[in-house]
Amino acid sequence: MKSRIYLDHAATTPVSSAARAAVAEALCLVGNPSSVHGGGRAANALLEAARDGVARFAGVAASQVIFTSGGTEAIALAANGARLGPERLRYLVGATEHSAVLQARDDAAAVPVDACGVIDLDSLAAALANGPALVAVQAANNETGVIQPLADVAALVRSAGGLLLVDAVQAAGKMPLPDADFTAISAHKLGGPPGIGVLIVRDPESLIARQRGGGQERGHRGGTPNLPGIAGFAAAVAENHDWAAVAARRTALEARLKAAGAIIHGEGAPRLPGISSIGLAGVAAATQVMMLDLEGFMVSAGAACSSGKVKSSHVLTAMGLGAAAAEAIRVSLSPATTDGDIDAFAAAWLAMAARLGRRVGA
Ligand code: PLP
Repeated sequence: MKSRIYLDHAATTPVSSAARAAVAEALCLVGNPSSVHGGGRAANALLEAARDGVARFAGVAASQVIFTSGGTEAIALAANGARLGPERLRYLVGATEHSAVLQARDDAAAVPVDACGVIDLDSLAAALANGPALVAVQAANNETGVIQPLADVAALVRSAGGLLLVDAVQAAGKMPLPDADFTAISAHKLGGPPGIGVLIVRDPESLIARQRGGGQERGHRGGTPNLPGIAGFAAAVAENHDWAAVAARRTALEARLKAAGAIIHGEGAPRLPGISSIGLAGVAAATQVMMLDLEGFMVSAGAACSSGKVKSSHVLTAMGLGAAAAEAIRVSLSPATTDGDIDAFAAAWLAMAARLGRRVGA
């Protein structure tokens, strides 16, 4: 049987053995963290130890950590709950944001990006000239890995008296976390289980709860916490990985494919180590994904919606790629990806390009 090689770690990455063990241990506890009896106190101790661990990882106080059901909920909480005064702030978003950011509010106003996918700071400054806003800019893009100039973005937002929400779902664990008013992180992108995330809040007073209920998470997010998920999340963020080695593998892969006609989108900007957006002119992303899948390689198209259909990537479209926005696949590596995996993938990609008559080099 053909081996299957998973190169879709930006979609989700395997739960680490430490995280699995922490989840299993937490599942054996009987007690709601809100209960006052011994079982409740033990559950609460585990919850608060995990909160301390995530706070250490993020370089913040435990009181700034709000557990959520994932990145999407963390973003929605900040997008809808951020407050500076009685009025809801305007909502400005980068044009290449994840749909969790774009769809969090109906009134999102997009700020353009350049050809590499980096936010246009002049356009952001112009938009902020109309008054303060909640500005949502990702730390790094999920399709291209392109890293945004968050220090510059934060300075503009601060001088306009607004608030900055950073979607750090792809970046967390791979680069330092930003200095922002709100930062969203998701466990399943960094070795933790799915269905658990966190919103890091600079000033808890600047956030109004969307889901009230029993007053958990210091009143910011009602609902019995997902303790196994939280324990797994804390175990995952305590692990260290060699991302420099991942970057070297990704660069070597790109060099081989470029020599045969591939186009690497966002290559001119700083990028996360493990993500590559690889275009093959004239070949629909869906075709590439299916052909590679048949050869045993799991990669994704620029954007796959929940129905499993492949659409033209709004990220690549915002970068001005036109028809090429529907002709790129995302290959995403993890620290467990080996040189052998990369060699095998490169050979399969080259064979695919040759079969489609697109191979132009060695
Ligand atoms: N933001 C980015 C950049 C993502 O890549 C994702 C997941 O694909 C999300 C947000 C949503 O996170 P979650 O799956 O935890 O809801």
